[in-house]
Amino acid sequence: MAFSLDSVLRDNIKKAKPYSSARDEYKGTEGIFLDANENPYGSAIEKHVNRYPDPLQRDVKDALSAVKHIPAQNIFFGNGSDEPIDLLIRATCQPGKDSILILPPTYGMYEVSAGINDVELIAVPLTKEFDLNVDAILAAVKAHTKIIFICSPNNPTGNLMSEEKVKAILTSFSGIVVVDEAYIDFADTKGFVPLLAQYPNLVVLQTFSKAWGMAALRLGTAFASKEIIDVLNKIKPPYNINLLTQECALEALKNVSVKDKMVHQILAQREWLRTELSKLPVCLELYPSDANFILMRTLDGKKVYDFLVEHMVITRDRSKIILCEGCVRITVGTEEENKKVIEVLKKF
Ligand SMILES: *Cc1c(COP(=O)(O)O)cnc(C)c1O
Repeated sequence: MAFSLDSVLRDNIKKAKPYSSARDEYKGTEGIFLDANENPYGSAIEKHVNRYPDPLQRDVKDALSAVKHIPAQNIFFGNGSDEPIDLLIRATCQPGKDSILILPPTYGMYEVSAGINDVELIAVPLTKEFDLNVDAILAAVKAHTKIIFICSPNNPTGNLMSEEKVKAILTSFSGIVVVDEAYIDFADTKGFVPLLAQYPNLVVLQTFSKAWGMAALRLGTAFASKEIIDVLNKIKPPYNINLLTQECALEALKNVSVKDKMVHQILAQREWLRTELSKLPVCLELYPSDANFILMRTLDGKKVYDFLVEHMVITRDRSKIILCEGCVRITVGTEEENKKVIEVLKKF
């Protein structure tokens, strides 16, 4: 089905005029800047943060462009990936009329954002193997369904979705398909960024919160066609990425090997944790993980969670979630942390 961005955008968004900031109107870097009501003397702290940051984060985009081999015009930065999730819903879904489609068990923010925006939620569960049920998904799509959110590797199940099935949805659905790749660095695949040129309705989300180890900075990335990126830029808060975050991201992008080394360590720890968990009586089933966490099925997820908390190990009780009965989600920690988890669970 042919994709037309015009047909998925809300009318008010098509007509909207973006806020024009001082930094948009004068782009030079030389001169006496009396255009933004900033403090000319400096800041109340030693570090100078008195000037507004680049609203389009050009330096960071150029650096990421080189790392990801994708033009800067196909990159959008948000205050975490949660911001593009919300902006995409707001750009396309008219409250009370349009809908988004999600695939539980999955990341909670899609539903939260839909709720806040008064947008209808259609939920089509994954299969028992936690993969996409393409026929059921396409059958559940309504005339006013604007976005399908696919999380791959999926949170909380940890697995990648089948690439062929994602492609089938991209081809058959006339709205936007978001592939949330928050955990892609831990998976043995290049993911969907290299396929952007083939699918005009594809948006790939990634984040600096997980593999890069920068969750506190709040920096998420959306990769998409220039047309979709332009819409996100038009409706975002003008200075959504602060200066310190931009500076840290630039520094991180010069240190890709440091990130890669941490990913390597986490993957080794994931395998160790998997092996040890699988030997424990508490473990009924361990799901394969392409992420930095492991989903483990037990007889009573709440009891296991509480027992771990009593021993100062905090995991996530996912046992109340569809298809995850009895499950706890365990993030892969450091070697010492993982040893402690096993030691405690041996006593359960
Ligand atoms: C952690 C996570 C994110 C990251 O969100 P940020 O707002 O970038 O911190 C996005 N999607 C999924 C599925 C996640 O698990």
